[in-house]
Amino acid sequence: VTHDLVCSRSSHPTETHTPFAGVGWAASLPTIGTVKRWLVTCVVLACSGTAAAQLNDVEQRIVAAAKSRSPHALALLEKAARINSGTLNADGVRAVGNVFRAELDALGFTTRWAVMPPEMKRAGHLVATRESGGKRLLLLGHLDTVFEPDSTAPLWERRGDRVRGQGVNDMKGGNVVIVEALRALQAAGALDGVSLAVVMTGDEERLGQPPELARADIVEQARRSAAALSFEAGIDFNGQSYATLTRRSAGAWQLTVRGQPGHASGVFTRGGYGAIYEAARILNAFREQLAEADVTFNPGVLLGGTSVTFSDDTSAGTAFGKTNVIARDVVVRGDMRFPTAEHGARLKRRMQEIVAAHLPGTSARIDFRDGYPPMPATDASRLLLDVYSRASADAGFGTVQARGTAGAGASGDIQFAAPHTAAIDSLGVTGRGAHTDDEDMEIASLERATIRAALFIHRLAKQP
Ligand SMILES: [Zn+2]
Repeated sequence: VTHDLVCSRSSHPTETHTPFAGVGWAASLPTIGTVKRWLVTCVVLACSGTAAAQLNDVEQRIVAAAKSRSPHALALLEKAARINSGTLNADGVRAVGNVFRAELDALGFTTRWAVMPPEMKRAGHLVATRESGGKRLLLLGHLDTVFEPDSTAPLWERRGDRVRGQGVNDMKGGNVVIVEALRALQAAGALDGVSLAVVMTGDEERLGQPPELARADIVEQARRSAAALSFEAGIDFNGQSYATLTRRSAGAWQLTVRGQPGHASGVFTRGGYGAIYEAARILNAFREQLAEADVTFNPGVLLGGTSVTFSDDTSAGTAFGKTNVIARDVVVRGDMRFPTAEHGARLKRRMQEIVAAHLPGTSARIDFRDGYPPMPATDASRLLLDVYSRASADAGFGTVQARGTAGAGASGDIQFAAPHTAAIDSLGVTGRGAHTDDEDMEIASLERATIRAALFIHRLAKQP
């Protein structure tokens, strides 16, 4: 699988030998030196599976700087991980934010804390910018973890070449990768000439409401950026690395149905159908008519009867009704996920049409709450992956492929940037068991991801 990507480079050199390569082509074709280098790379890769160094002097200095900092990088991660920062532990989230803020201040960033309104009950975000002309890139991290202060997961527990701890791979390790990649660029004299924004959110694991407000800083920075790079945990499978170019939307819907209460003997005729039959008609029509690949809509809770209550805080409710009375109220709460904005618009329109075709004696409405926007792969994001993959291969870490799981469930902050700029995710450290008490990180992945990220940023800055 790896060879497909790497050796596709040799298709360019072979064009130089075709009799059809005219003068117009020649100018854009590689020099013989480049051709030789590509061919050598392919042969080496085909034999050993690891790349020969294809790094220029600056890039070699970047790699050396990243390597020399590795013990500090691990110490920085330990410092951040030893502070509990469950999303609802606002003090802890801000304390972790201060750890990374100090690092970014030292790198010449202008940093601020984006405060959220008290009713959102979230800590806020770290926003840092560094203006240096050139292209602008947005780097995304998050400060919070799923581990609230009562968690039984250890904060930090070294185990040989791995470390177990709260948020070590999701994603305090990724935050360290951001900081250390920038530090390596600075040490190599390569940090200037690219403008950077770093946003580390405080509520990635439990998104504050409303999302438009909670993610306003990401959207604002994404609009001004040529690309957004997110450092959620990296993916390695059978020796192949993957990055994420696609994530499905994640949102919610509520169906509210009303019927005319009356004696059960009048159902279907003078009493109408009641709210429960109307809700059943609607849900069954959704299932029969709207299911398609990569699109899901799941009714998660339904309450029906003469009267119902439902609490957002507890996700629990009550229903009261009698078997001899036609139901007056139904409420259904559900989840929906789709791969592109077009899928979402079509799904919502068709849901509305089904809802509107009421049974006699009933009424109903459906309301949607958008959460995470969909992130489809684009030509621009595939270009990002291409640059990242080459940087990884040239550093000796092999190629990186697109993770082919549009249907997967995970959502991330990158989705709020994706509608506004080219977006790529999973550039962080690798580990196992994210969100469980056994969450851990492969220590070597910290240096590997840092080198990849630093080379990626450096090459993107130079990319036309
Ligand atoms: Zn995460």
